[in-house]
Amino acid sequence: MPTSLSPFSHTLDLSVLIPVYNEADNIQPLCEALLPALKAIGRSFEVIFINDGSTDATEARLMAVAAGERRVRVINFRRNVGQTAAMMAGIDHARGDVIVPMDGDLQNDPADIHTLITKLDEGYDVVSGWRRDRQDGFTKRVLPSMIANKLISVISGVHLNDYGCTLKAYRREMLQGFRLYGEMHRFVPIYARWQGARLAEIPVTHHPRRFGTSKYGLERIAKVVLDLVVVKFLTQYETKPIYIFGLAGLMFMGLSFLAGAYALYLKLVEGVSFIMTPLPLMVTMGIITGVMCILMGLLAELLVRVYFESQGKSHYTVRSLVNFDVPAPVDPGRVKPNPDLVA
Ligand code: UDP
Ligand code: MG
Repeated sequence: MPTSLSPFSHTLDLSVLIPVYNEADNIQPLCEALLPALKAIGRSFEVIFINDGSTDATEARLMAVAAGERRVRVINFRRNVGQTAAMMAGIDHARGDVIVPMDGDLQNDPADIHTLITKLDEGYDVVSGWRRDRQDGFTKRVLPSMIANKLISVISGVHLNDYGCTLKAYRREMLQGFRLYGEMHRFVPIYARWQGARLAEIPVTHHPRRFGTSKYGLERIAKVVLDLVVVKFLTQYETKPIYIFGLAGLMFMGLSFLAGAYALYLKLVEGVSFIMTPLPLMVTMGIITGVMCILMGLLAELLVRVYFESQGKSHYTVRSLVNFDVPAPVDPGRVKPNPDLVA
């Protein structure tokens, strides 16, 4: 089933997406390494640079490259909105059957694109790069990312060594119907896996940054963890939020029931007055919180219906339809509907 992700027909084999924010000195060397590497693969390709509101000479450098190579396309944002949004814009405009995002700071090696695609051809839907010899500072980058990768693997149930590596290859269909927010681009493999994608991870080369500076600090860790909670919630409970809220509500109520029973036991058997223990407080708090959770769950259920029904969205994804284009056989015994009665 042909699926159209962008308003443009997709007629190419490969789209490379590169978000750049203040990477002026990297543009020229990156293109000098990237374009020959892509030509050597021998497939049709395009390179889409998403200039994420750079304030340095990035735009001018990109224009210079695009003027000499029509396969280099540039999307200029009005202001800086972040790498994930830039990637989303790239996906929306990409025409390739295979989509390969990468960093614009030459830390990823363009030669690895061929390796990723070869792996994809073996029958995978997503091939993720793994920066096994990561060339970044240990305490500020490598260690936090090791912890984050373990955490994400445990929460998501999808095991990758390196979620943060931008260099990945996706079959276009895998990005269907998925909008990226926050710092979520790193979770696309998880989403794809949950949708049934075949996922592989292969080591890729990683170079130290030569020009410009990293755009991120430690605050990224908190954002990544919170985004993961959102991804988990939206993909597993998007259509049944009452299960999460309701479960929490029932747990609170159960706790308050236990506290109440214990308070009664203390009063009736041991003769301890209610006001001598914090139990009555726990009972009230538990009931209030429990009821609030369940009510919030109902509200969320309402939101789900508004979301899907007002926008005509469906909450299932069809991979293919068989024999649905065959017209229904004409049944002569069937009474023709009265045209006056059919609106
Ligand atoms: N980037 C971007 N918008 C931002 C921050 C970063 O487009 O707001 C780009 C940046 O130019 C680079 C890539 O995202 O091409 C990765 O950023 P960076 O190298 O700073 O991340 P790190 O490699 O340090 O994790
Ligand atoms: Mg980098």
